[in-house]
Amino acid sequence: MGSPRECTRILGLEGFRVDTIEWAGDEPRAALRVRIERRDIRGYECSGCRRRTWRVRDRAERTWADVPWAEHHVTVIYQQRRVACPTCGIRTERVAFADPKARITRRLRQVIGLDCQSMPTSHAAVRHGVSWSKARRAEYAFLAEWDHTRPKRRPRHLGADEIHRGKRQKFYTVLSDLVRGEVIGLAPERTEESLAGLLTTRLDARQRAAVEAVCTDMHRPYLNAVAHVLPAATVVLDKFHVLQHAGAALDDVRRHEFFRAGPVMRRFGRGKRWLLLRRWKTVRGSKRQELHALFAANRRLFKAYVLREELDHLWTYTTRDGVANFLWGWLEALRWQRLPEMEKLGDTLVKHFDGIAAFCDHAVRFGVVESLNMTIKGVIRRGRGMKDETMLLLKLKWATARPIRSSKDLAKFLYLDLHSNR
Ligand SMILES: [Zn+2]
Repeated sequence: MGSPRECTRILGLEGFRVDTIEWAGDEPRAALRVRIERRDIRGYECSGCRRRTWRVRDRAERTWADVPWAEHHVTVIYQQRRVACPTCGIRTERVAFADPKARITRRLRQVIGLDCQSMPTSHAAVRHGVSWSKARRAEYAFLAEWDHTRPKRRPRHLGADEIHRGKRQKFYTVLSDLVRGEVIGLAPERTEESLAGLLTTRLDARQRAAVEAVCTDMHRPYLNAVAHVLPAATVVLDKFHVLQHAGAALDDVRRHEFFRAGPVMRRFGRGKRWLLLRRWKTVRGSKRQELHALFAANRRLFKAYVLREELDHLWTYTTRDGVANFLWGWLEALRWQRLPEMEKLGDTLVKHFDGIAAFCDHAVRFGVVESLNMTIKGVIRRGRGMKDETMLLLKLKWATARPIRSSKDLAKFLYLDLHSNR
């Protein structure tokens, strides 16, 4: 079949020539078995120290799955030598086209690894004619190599957040770099130890020293962990979490006002929860009418809604005095309103004033926090209870770092020779 020269060129494995090719069966899409041999040989490379030697001890036939030729899956077969290396002893020879111990070639690994970032592992496995576990191992090796070769950054702003996981194990703690919008680490639970562990193991001393601010919610264990591990860093409270508390307070007001007010009012207030929690600027048309009707029925709910809407201003000041003045005015407006739920919220805001006002000095990118959370939730949902946390972390890093932004980036991952020095 074909001339070996042509086939060698098609296969394109540097330093190897095609010896023979045979079909693995008679069906139209039968697999190809490609036997290869070394060419222009200058001795066999030791896989331990990469020194070349001629001292071959024995050889054994090994196979690797490779990228297909049209619809024919390809298995590459080679008599891999074991060499007696003067420094390492008995070692297998190094083959550049595959990772040590891998059953697939590096270029197939790249294709599978890339595919797995946009489709389930099972689909990628079918596409490339390998088993699920082979595809999963390929994906792991692909991501691990990418992660390993990335430069170590020194993040100025960190984000620490809890991600809801599921019924069994409830939460993950996620640590991220808010300047670049990338996940750094992942730990189970949401305890002080989870975050402290991440801060000490995922960042080295140099990286920790560069941290100026940590954005987190009011979760006490996280605040403790930051104070303990990064005493020089400022805690900036996450805007969305603070506003979430405000939303909860508003909801309490709604429940209080309508559900204690007899069946007629109760029916009126029913089903309005999500409408009420939406921000005014996102409510349009007939929904605005509904809100107006709701507020006309209950002035105190209206007052609470306005107070919640105004809280946005907390993050518009450039000085702590500005924030303090605004908060003072806000608390004043609350007086005599008989809104105990909002008063409780006021207490919380006063208690966490430092964390809120810290935004003046460290303008953390809250938008990045939100978009990171969306990406993370998406990956976890698609992973459907992925048990392997190392793998999940790698996938999160890939999804948030978005290393492929152009066709040039993609080519770098697909055609390894373009950038590798091997
Ligand atoms: Zn050696």
